[in-house]
Amino acid sequence: MQNNHHKEHLYKILVIGDLGVGKTSIIKRYVHHNFSPNYRATIGVDFALKVLNWDQETVRLQLWDIAGQERFGNMTRVYYREAMGAFIVFDVTRPASFEAVTKWKEDLDSKLTLANGKHVATVLLANKCDQGRDVLTNNGIKMEQFCQENGFVGWFETSAKVRKMTNRHTHEYTYTHSVLT
Ligand code: GDP
Ligand code: MG
Repeated sequence: MQNNHHKEHLYKILVIGDLGVGKTSIIKRYVHHNFSPNYRATIGVDFALKVLNWDQETVRLQLWDIAGQERFGNMTRVYYREAMGAFIVFDVTRPASFEAVTKWKEDLDSKLTLANGKHVATVLLANKCDQGRDVLTNNGIKMEQFCQENGFVGWFETSAKVRKMTNRHTHEYTYTHSVLT
């Protein structure tokens, strides 16, 4: 049946963060619904397309996976250009990957500004939450506050390995369920 209200959207979404934090694995889980424990650093730039049907509209998320260039300052403006959103990923078992998060954010914001003068919406992903949460619990950082202070629209605990994580709540942290369903 012809539907005149049908709209299509294509959004470029960046997935950035230090080497080994699980960027490629998250994309694989989200788009292809699988996980491989074998470490293989991606070379070049990979694209994966996640198609979402949302009301009468089709949303295509073109996920950009950086590969082999995972040092901040290494990414070019050309790479970031025309992105509509970004995920910055860190590994909850590696504090250094969390410290790098603000550097990734600064690099992104310094190289990409939207037409309206704003920065792209960026979501923080605390990955490998199946492995423990050293970074989240040891340094006393309140993630909500960290997001507000550093310009993230929000954060999620994720695991590319374990499909469903139970919700956990403590008085200090509110763990949001995994965005990966
Ligand atoms: P990238 O360099 O950021 O793309 O990281 P990869 O996706 O290649 O993942 C690096 C390593 O971490 C691989 O051995 C993955 O199998 C592993 N890994 C990725 N995500 C998770 C996760 O959520 N939990 C666990 N336990 N391992 C993960
Ligand atoms: Mg990769």
